[in-house]
Amino acid sequence: MSDSSKDLNSMKRAAELLHHRGLGLSKGDPIALPITTSSMFHLPGDPADTPGYGRVDNPTWEALENALAILEDAPCVALPSGMAAISAALFACLGAGKRLLVPSDGYYVTRVLSSEFLASFGVAVTERPSAQFGEGGFAGFDVVFVETPSNPGLDLCDLRAICAEVRAAGGITIVDNTTMTPFGQRPLDLGADVVVASDTKAPGGHSDLLMGHVATRDTALLARIRDWRKMSGAIPSPHAAWALYRGLETLELRFARMCDTAEQLAPVLANHPAVQSVRFPGLPTDPSHNLATSQMERFGFLIGLDFGSEVRAEQFIEGCRFLRPATSFGGVHSSAERRARWGDEVSPGYVRLSVGCEPVDALLQDLSDSLNNLGQR
Ligand SMILES: *Cc1c(COP(=O)(O)O)cnc(C)c1O
Repeated sequence: MSDSSKDLNSMKRAAELLHHRGLGLSKGDPIALPITTSSMFHLPGDPADTPGYGRVDNPTWEALENALAILEDAPCVALPSGMAAISAALFACLGAGKRLLVPSDGYYVTRVLSSEFLASFGVAVTERPSAQFGEGGFAGFDVVFVETPSNPGLDLCDLRAICAEVRAAGGITIVDNTTMTPFGQRPLDLGADVVVASDTKAPGGHSDLLMGHVATRDTALLARIRDWRKMSGAIPSPHAAWALYRGLETLELRFARMCDTAEQLAPVLANHPAVQSVRFPGLPTDPSHNLATSQMERFGFLIGLDFGSEVRAEQFIEGCRFLRPATSFGGVHSSAERRARWGDEVSPGYVRLSVGCEPVDALLQDLSDSLNNLGQR
């Protein structure tokens, strides 16, 4: 697909998202999405095909899932966090005697869930670094879980090649697309069976909710994931679903600003003498740049910075006025943290910077001031 038709599709999805609900309204209906908090529904007689109970049905979730489905171009199930979405996908696809491959450098909770819980139910779990994910092939794996760019190291793996190989070997590919959102990367179009995402990050965007979703075009799998939600009881709160719906209405705008700003900041940071090294897929010098260009719509809003030491990394963060020292990412306010403080396998001076929605010149000035104060290594 050409770049311009990719852009056009993505712009159409953004516009459709803003209007799909309004197009179905009756005279006098509210334009803004109402929150329905009811656990009970008026249900005389035959209950078939009628919302019946709040753990199974909720009109606010349904509106959110319709909006997510427009973005993903696939049916979606809303869940109360990214981990709830990942759990739903993994528990729906796996069982005793099955084999699972996960990245050794991806979001650490997925790994711990796999080794602590899935393994105890008889799932054989194997780990592999994202940068060498294709090495060794995928024969014998029932589920291959991929995260690209990986969080926090920002290594990429080749989605088209992996999905095709896994499918040929009879397995299922699940892609965690949290770092990119549907506006930045479209794993289902590249051959993935399932997308999972934490909507706590850029889709919510205001650091005031936790949510997640699963997207798949596989009808049987979709039904199983819905059943998992219904039976495990891992259901979203109507308030969080409503807040995420509102966040989605500006996702395209925020994401474009964040990615544009990251593209402007990355070369400046990379050339500053106070910084030892930079990871950003949009930099032509990044080891993943060519792959990024071929499989991503945008380069994202996360930048990895290595300051060479814990002290210098902390000084940099502390020295920025427009940078919240906080875990998580994707909010309107730029934020940063040293991931080694949680035990991630990155160097002690490695900072994951999440670029927010501040005007680029203000942010650039602020980060530059902090770097200049840090002095040369
Ligand atoms: C944050 C994150 C998750 C987990 O999401 P929660 O909403 O915190 O449960 C999963 N995968 C990735 C890549 C993440 O960054």
